[in-house]
Amino acid sequence: MSEICKNIEKIKVKLHDNIKLLAVSKTKSIDDILETYKCGQLDFGENKVQELTTKYESLPKNIHWHFIGHLQSNKVKYIAPFIYLIHSVDSLKILKEINKQAIKNNRIIDVLLQLHIGQEESKFGFSNSEIFLLFENEQFKNLKNIRICGLMGMATNTSDEKIILQEFNVLTDVFKILQTKYFKNKSFFQIKSFGMSNDYELAIDSGSNLVRLGSSIFGKR
Ligand SMILES: *Cc1c(COP(=O)(O)O)cnc(C)c1O
Repeated sequence: MSEICKNIEKIKVKLHDNIKLLAVSKTKSIDDILETYKCGQLDFGENKVQELTTKYESLPKNIHWHFIGHLQSNKVKYIAPFIYLIHSVDSLKILKEINKQAIKNNRIIDVLLQLHIGQEESKFGFSNSEIFLLFENEQFKNLKNIRICGLMGMATNTSDEKIILQEFNVLTDVFKILQTKYFKNKSFFQIKSFGMSNDYELAIDSGSNLVRLGSSIFGKR
């Protein structure tokens, strides 16, 4: 078994049945991705549009491509035909553009709203108050070709587990409130995307059901 497959096997032991593993393949080669695909991994995450489209073109078409980076409006059109899930949606502007491109491609695009839970200013995402305002926005309510499937977040890059847990709890709290208020009986609103290589075990304990792992699968970037 290849090193990559062994890593995935080790990780899977720790994931419960209902937790999805996203292999974050940014900066990794086509060959690395193909090898990972051959171990049965179908979900891959990229954070650059150009890199993603190049990989999409050369790899098997049943791969589920996830976009996890900061997305610019003028680039949505390149991924709209095939993207499986966009995790990193952080403004009404980008939601409108995704909706527009979804219409052009005659499809509904699944997205997650990124919540700013970490302390770093550099991290993107809606604040708590912004996200609740969004749900009351009339333009937002009229976007029919996007489907909000849950929330995504990135905790502060720290070894202090208390801080990380606190931030994960903010995400699950906001998720619960939104679910109760806006997604009653809507089973598609169910994704909590948080946890990376350094904190995914804490994330699982906190209720994540989609972990995004790069270095623990492929080794250091
Ligand atoms: C790079 C990246 C990951 C994976 O990071 P690792 O530490 O390599 O597991 C997860 N999520 C996002 C948004 C990323 O940019």
